[in-house]
Amino acid sequence: MFASNSSRFSLIVGPCAIESHDTFSRVARYAKDMGVTALRGGIYKLRTDPNSFQGLGNRAFEIVEMSKKETGLPFVCEITDPRQIEDLGKIADVFQVGTRNMHNYELLKELGRCRTPILLKRGMAAYLDELLLASEYIRREGNEQIAFCERGIRSFERATRNTLDLSAVPYLKARSGLPVIVDPSHATGKRELVTPMCWAAAAAGADGLLIEIHPEPEKSLSDAEQALSLEDFKMMYERLVKILEVMGRTIEVNPQ
Ligand code: PEP
Ligand code: MN
Repeated sequence: MFASNSSRFSLIVGPCAIESHDTFSRVARYAKDMGVTALRGGIYKLRTDPNSFQGLGNRAFEIVEMSKKETGLPFVCEITDPRQIEDLGKIADVFQVGTRNMHNYELLKELGRCRTPILLKRGMAAYLDELLLASEYIRREGNEQIAFCERGIRSFERATRNTLDLSAVPYLKARSGLPVIVDPSHATGKRELVTPMCWAAAAAGADGLLIEIHPEPEKSLSDAEQALSLEDFKMMYERLVKILEVMGRTIEVNPQ
């Protein structure tokens, strides 16, 4: 699904978490009509506050299966424990390693032993060179289908949830030859900043975007402040296509 230095650009969209059949299928159908590469949606959420919504867990499997069948779109999902590999692997086309697990080397090694592509997110306080080394844990076990995701890092700046480090894109690409996806949703934490950062990431040479969208963003059970509405997403998409044209790229639309 991911490609570096090619004309293909990956657009991965969906809610922060799968909340219900209704919201996920609405997002999935919309995403399919717009033309995207893959769907996303958290099933096992790693939340800072244990009182927050933790995701539907296995109850989300059927919802995902139905939307995949309806749209034909691949599904990207965060994996939080090696014990999920077998069951989650039946519905996930890409395993995402979240920011909290970039340093979970036992998980990385287990993921290296499977054949599912990995989207490895940057730890919130990780150096880029540490992210490159983390990918080695996966690669050495035999899984070479790895893409990086820059999702912002902790800094002194409080206006945004994290600080988006766009220099990560050319830096990681030059050193690894692997694709780099940018996640402006978690990087900024503010929906009004997501769209301009999507455009900037594309102009910086990113190989794709991971974006949280929701039919009723303010009602999202997690990360409500950063989700784009379906209308916001359309506005972002229209200019993104023009920027990608200048960059000599097109969105990989699935089903192919
Ligand atoms: C996510 O993509 O759903 C997520 C939790 O991201 P991160 O691990 O970057 O916070
Ligand atoms: Mn989220």
